[in-house]
Amino acid sequence: MRHKIPCFCDNTFTVDAPEEIDLDAEPRYVEDIIAGNFMNFVCTSCGKKHKPEFPITVKWNSKGAVLEVLPELDRGLFYRRKEEKKSAFTGALIGYPELAERIAVLRDGLKVEVVEAIKYYLLLKADEAYPDEEISVWYQHRADSSLEFHIHGIKKEEVAVMRVPLTLYEKTLADFKKNPKSEPFSLLRVKNYVSIQNVLRPDELK
Ligand SMILES: [Zn+2]
Repeated sequence: MRHKIPCFCDNTFTVDAPEEIDLDAEPRYVEDIIAGNFMNFVCTSCGKKHKPEFPITVKWNSKGAVLEVLPELDRGLFYRRKEEKKSAFTGALIGYPELAERIAVLRDGLKVEVVEAIKYYLLLKADEAYPDEEISVWYQHRADSSLEFHIHGIKKEEVAVMRVPLTLYEKTLADFKKNPKSEPFSLLRVKNYVSIQNVLRPDELK
């Protein structure tokens, strides 16, 4: 689909953006998305890089995923709209940073609910230590015996790296399998959207 992008330099340029991509057919997108290089466009006049968020379907059948990706601007709309009884989507994501993180989680063969639960625990701990800061936690990648997360917001312009032992992941996975409707898992899901953002959303989105 063609979109017009207005630039601060007063130039408006037109780009062609896909409405659906298939990561099995075009695996090059995987690293592009994770690196934040997906859907970047350069102004034809001043060369400024734009990162607009267009709605897109991301299919990754080999990972069992058909994801509906909404722009961050549509977050309120998502909570207000009715749940579809028969959705073709296995999950929803809001904003491209969530897309980048989710693709890394799927690439590494991890259970989404469990990764979000670990982020929730890490956030609770960080919030306790730094109650005045606006902190966010993002999954990065899997190493031999640990999962790496980045914590943003503890210090300006700095990212704290947190490694969680795989044994904790396995234990949380066992908890999830035993009782998927227990907390914190139940808090992390709204409709087909599994995200720590469901816990953090302001009251007007509840
Ligand atoms: Zn420009």
